[in-house]
Amino acid sequence: MLPAETIPLRIGVFGGTFDPPHVGHLVTAVNVRHALDLDLLILMVANVPWQKLGTRSITPAADRLAMVKAAVESVDRLIAGDHEIRSGGNSYTADTLAALAAEYPGAELFTVVGDDAAAGIRTWARADEVLERSRLVVVDRPGEPVRLDPDIDWIRVEVPRLEVSSTDLRGRWSDGRPLDYLVTEDVLVVIADRGLYGVEATP
Ligand code: ATP
Ligand code: MG
Repeated sequence: MLPAETIPLRIGVFGGTFDPPHVGHLVTAVNVRHALDLDLLILMVANVPWQKLGTRSITPAADRLAMVKAAVESVDRLIAGDHEIRSGGNSYTADTLAALAAEYPGAELFTVVGDDAAAGIRTWARADEVLERSRLVVVDRPGEPVRLDPDIDWIRVEVPRLEVSSTDLRGRWSDGRPLDYLVTEDVLVVIADRGLYGVEATP
């Protein structure tokens, strides 16, 4: 058997805007970590999610990073990634994977996406480089099944389908509805302390 240090690390990169991070993200993250026996799963916070620009206002990256850190602080092998924020500008997964390959030489990289994001993979900048540098992992979200590019050797991981999105949660919070159990208690503290998403829910 090979000594442990020669076995390459298995690292998942789960990118998103995380505005805010919610139970759907976290259930996906821990189930993918488990199913693929990852050493590390990085919730990579986009600096500028360029595909969302002009569709709505985006919470500052520092606030989104603080929420993701709060969400995963006590979770084994899940970490918040600030690579894209440190790089600045628009965030491209191809660049992030190149940075991770340099940081963790020899690591096996996995790019994790929900099926809505998977359907748009060919619209990503340098999609071919993403496919060369990582295996693509897809989880289903509720709704109609999405057609995935048949030329890609997807890894599918089954996770509970949770009908939750950040867009829905922002709307709930701004109307005064509670987010308990939809985000972690620590994320709720960050939202309240930083006054994100408008009105605070009354208990
Ligand atoms: P928004 O409504 O602002 O688009 P979102 O909930 O879709 O937010 P994103 O930050 O856009 O969250 O998504 C990051 C990644 O998480 C994407 O790959 C997306 O498909 C996935 N994802 C988001 N919500 C879920 C969910 N409920 N179950 C599984 N995957 C999810
Ligand atoms: Mg989304």
